[in-house]
Amino acid sequence: MKPAVFLDRDGTINVDKDYLYRIEDFEYLNGVEEALRQLERSGFLLVIVTNQSGIARGYYTENDYRHLMDWMISDLSGKGIHIAGDYFCPHLPGAVVKKYDVECDCRKPKTGLYYRAAKELDIDMDKSFSIGDKLRDLEICRETGVKGILIGDKNRDSGDHYHVCRNWKEISEYFSRL
Ligand SMILES: [Mg+2]
Ligand SMILES: [Zn+2]
Repeated sequence: MKPAVFLDRDGTINVDKDYLYRIEDFEYLNGVEEALRQLERSGFLLVIVTNQSGIARGYYTENDYRHLMDWMISDLSGKGIHIAGDYFCPHLPGAVVKKYDVECDCRKPKTGLYYRAAKELDIDMDKSFSIGDKLRDLEICRETGVKGILIGDKNRDSGDHYHVCRNWKEISEYFSRL
């Protein structure tokens, strides 16, 4: 079993632009590449877990999602960063695209995607972390030994299941102190 860092995508790896799917709109957050390289060097699998309700809303398709994600994975790979897996939820209850109008177990704060990743990639949850810009990205930390990091520059206090870092520089510092 291997430890992993579960990464939310929008607002965590890249700047959150509503319902992003175009490569030309994609923009990394400051310091994320360096931090991910360091985490991987420390032995963590890097696993993306992302809600993509834009698919259910009909703003873009699963193919559009895949196109951007494949580009991003290959761009990171060119920078020496390997993404072990990416897991997404396309669903939304009441959505206009009927196929995705589902009460699923994978739309965060639900935790289905994390367990799927853990099983497929043989992840040691007790040694793993989840990083996201919303509390819904850290629900898995309530159910398992996964430790949470909330990223963002708003002044928020750490909760009992997560630690707050303002940016990726602070996350790097946090990991270097562990
Ligand atoms: Mg987010
Ligand atoms: Zn889902």
